[in-house]
Amino acid sequence: MQYKDINGQESVKQKLIQSVNEDRISHAQLFLGPEGNGALQLALAFAQHLNCENPTENDSCGVCNQCNKISKLIHPDLHFCLPVIGKKPNTPPVTDDYIQEWRQIYNEQQWFSQNHWLSFIGGEKKNGNITARECNEVIRKLNFKNFEGKYKVMIVWGAELLSKEGNKLLKIIEEPPANTLFILIANDLERILMTIQSRTQTLKIPRFTDENIVAFLTDKEGCDEGRARQLAGLAEGNLVEAIQMTREEENNFSELMLQWFEACFKKEVGPANKVISSLHESGRSIQKQFIYYILQYLREIMVYGYSERSLNRVSERELKLAAYMQKRCGWEDFEQLIALYEKGYYYITRNAHAKIQFFNFFIQSSNIFKQIKKKQVS
Ligand SMILES: [Zn+2]
Repeated sequence: MQYKDINGQESVKQKLIQSVNEDRISHAQLFLGPEGNGALQLALAFAQHLNCENPTENDSCGVCNQCNKISKLIHPDLHFCLPVIGKKPNTPPVTDDYIQEWRQIYNEQQWFSQNHWLSFIGGEKKNGNITARECNEVIRKLNFKNFEGKYKVMIVWGAELLSKEGNKLLKIIEEPPANTLFILIANDLERILMTIQSRTQTLKIPRFTDENIVAFLTDKEGCDEGRARQLAGLAEGNLVEAIQMTREEENNFSELMLQWFEACFKKEVGPANKVISSLHESGRSIQKQFIYYILQYLREIMVYGYSERSLNRVSERELKLAAYMQKRCGWEDFEQLIALYEKGYYYITRNAHAKIQFFNFFIQSSNIFKQIKKKQVS
């Protein structure tokens, strides 16, 4: 990973680059900031710049032996301490149990979240852990002499998971062997042991801007600008989430939305639950995209009317549904529906329980449609 592979985070890069150029590297740093801020990628670009045989003022060369090994995560002086899950009964897991998988996911994806990593190795986020055995491994590895790099680098991804066993690391963080760099990556300062906080230098890494995300998606993921803007809006500064959304297969939300509204119109719990379960399993980014799809659809019917929607963009059945809704719903009904889904969207982005939130959508949408039917009768 080179700095040039990361669109944005310029001031963070400048701080890191300057510390290398001036040879003033803090040996224990805490990269702190929200998920999807590129902390892992920045740590790797930093490690590569630091060890590169022919670095420029602003980046590693990307082609020397050191760069090559670091970019494949096979450098003998580059170590990781990762959240992992139990593999064998009665043996606490360590990163080395999963080092092949780690290289594989990085090689294939480069940008991924801890959730993706843990599901890649067959676990769930809640089960990911950094064990006491792992802490011993960290100490053991850092006590080796450097093999070939100028710096030995230990990247701890998910420093929140260093529970009290993390205290084992205090001595080595405070007085590390020569030419050792500790990079701890975390999202949540409150969950970091105080003893560790006080021994590390914190580097705050903010969210990416929407412009950074649009640039990344159009340059590197081949996304068209319209779609990139839409995803940037959905991702709220989380580049990893935006990339994952780009990579997910084009979702057919149309069919799902038709099933959804049919269930709501008829107030049928069974079919609604089918949609809810499938959304629940698909994860938060799909849930957000689905709500966004519904909101776009409702706004367009409200503003343009179904007849002006281009036939290329919506299916015959979506047109029919639009015609049906437009005939029955007034302006204020659409307003009520849009407000409902906007509010729900907000809760989902704040990690509301998906099943409960979607069931609430179902009840409230059904009630709005029921009122409409009543109005028509009277
Ligand atoms: Zn190099």
